[in-house]
Amino acid sequence: MSTPETTAAPVRVAPWPRWPEHGEPERRRLAEVLDGGMWNGIDAPAVTAFEREFAERLATRHVITCANGTVSLEIALAALGIGAGDEVIVPPYTFLATASAVLGLNALPVFADITPDTYCIDPAAVEAAIGPRTRAVIAVHLAGHPADLDALGEICTRHGIALIEDAAHAHGSSWRDRPVGGFGAFGSWSFQGSKNLTSGEGGALSANDDELAGIARELRNCGRVEGGAWYDHQRFGGNWRITAFQAALLSAGLERLPAQFARREACAARLDAELSDVDGIRPLARDPRATGHAHHLYLFRYSPSAFGGRSVEEFCAALRRHGIPASRGYPLPLYRQPVFARQRFDLLATGWDPGHPPTRYDRIDLPVCERACAESVWLPHHVLLAEPDEMADVATAIRTVATTSS
Ligand SMILES: *Cc1c(COP(=O)(O)O)cnc(C)c1O
Repeated sequence: MSTPETTAAPVRVAPWPRWPEHGEPERRRLAEVLDGGMWNGIDAPAVTAFEREFAERLATRHVITCANGTVSLEIALAALGIGAGDEVIVPPYTFLATASAVLGLNALPVFADITPDTYCIDPAAVEAAIGPRTRAVIAVHLAGHPADLDALGEICTRHGIALIEDAAHAHGSSWRDRPVGGFGAFGSWSFQGSKNLTSGEGGALSANDDELAGIARELRNCGRVEGGAWYDHQRFGGNWRITAFQAALLSAGLERLPAQFARREACAARLDAELSDVDGIRPLARDPRATGHAHHLYLFRYSPSAFGGRSVEEFCAALRRHGIPASRGYPLPLYRQPVFARQRFDLLATGWDPGHPPTRYDRIDLPVCERACAESVWLPHHVLLAEPDEMADVATAIRTVATTSS
């Protein structure tokens, strides 16, 4: 016997816009690098050009490109002098890298809960997690919605600790009309294939402090001093450079970004309206100070009771059968991932007493994050590159699933 939803015709058969978008500008810029012969990542005109263009867009003094958005976090922490015995406060509702980068420096990630309205780190929880060993806070602009940069900036200044913005979801986002990435000591960017500005892989740091930016530049280039000799290594860094080909793609992508950003904002606003009266579906809120939202993801909360008790997995699978690429997103708070909950040997390397509270990740239970993992549905940003009118397909698919589920 077939189930109702397999017999119902799919709501959407037309494909959504493909990601990444590319065309003649990418081909031309890649050919320029190919024929120009400067393929490497340091001093290549394509790399310095992209760093300048991105810094202009972010209104920061510096942009330092690097291999990916994981290493960028590690470089930021290293440049701040963070290491064994230090604690860094991070949210648990994020990609692994936000917390694993801290372990990479032999420091300890301390998880602080998120707010229920935006899923960004909760400033009150940050304040409560600060202790004598706290050196920094990494705030994630989740899905592209800026974290509360007013409150976080004030808390970090008052406690003399650094703020790092993990802006891997937030290309083009702004807070009080100022681009994110320039509010803390560093902004950290990823250009991995799923991100809103991409070269397949890649990353960057943005910064306003000349000294910190200089250290970060040296760290990503084998500890070489700018303008120094090739075989003179002053710091313990690594080869974390990008190639000129990646920079060429990023410069082209940066030109496409404003139009894509505007389209995602328009489609997200339409989706908010389309979903406002759908039972059992609640999109996340938007802080009025979040003047620009990159919508790397479109997130909403799902109540099984409005859908005949279907689990969130079943609901996402039903939406996919109707041509809507919905997924559950992060299935677990990061502290429940085995790397944190089980592999305690990582932490022993930090010199910490394994009984020290922050190291007992298996005992953490942050309720807002637990709930977010249980009830969230994600739509990827390329859906929002369609025409605003096409957002009706999402609402129609959800209503169809609701009426065929009981
Ligand atoms: C993608 C991502 C990163 C890491 O980026 P990579 O380039 O894949 O290493 C860091 N933080 C968040 C929130 C991300 O989504």
